[in-house]
Amino acid sequence: MSKYTKKQVSELVDCRADWDTVHRMLSMPKDPERFQMYVEVLQEKVPFKDKIILPLGPHLYIVQNAAKKWVTKCDCGHEFGDYRENWKLNALVYVRDTVEKMVEVYPQLMAPDPAWQVYREYVCPECGILHDVEAPTPWYPVVHDFEPDIEAFYSEWVNLPIPERAGD
Ligand code: ZN
Repeated sequence: MSKYTKKQVSELVDCRADWDTVHRMLSMPKDPERFQMYVEVLQEKVPFKDKIILPLGPHLYIVQNAAKKWVTKCDCGHEFGDYRENWKLNALVYVRDTVEKMVEVYPQLMAPDPAWQVYREYVCPECGILHDVEAPTPWYPVVHDFEPDIEAFYSEWVNLPIPERAGD
């Protein structure tokens, strides 16, 4: 049973909308200072020293870890693996695929038919925070949101030095 309520799930969906705006903003005409300030603010909030390279969500980042590897990392410090891999495959997942599970977050009759749509909630295995919610058709594979081209983002968009990365 997922410990998340309708409110939390819908907030995350709203939040995602905001994050889409953030990502659009970041990829729009060069504003390196805005990006740098934004990352500095995030960096002060996280409990770890690893350098944040790119925020992926409200509690999820691509960071340069102590070994100079670029990895996907949770607020709590949990690492989900190489930044090019889909972190969701290393998360805990709770699937709402029955009417009973849907009505926990949706009023009955407004809930999607689980034969056509399910909810997948991706949770950090260490701290339990909800990182993402997908609403795919049941047979749809795990969605890999995007694989950012960090080198291009740093060098072409925000004109900042590309963080160091240890070879594979
Ligand atoms: Zn965590």
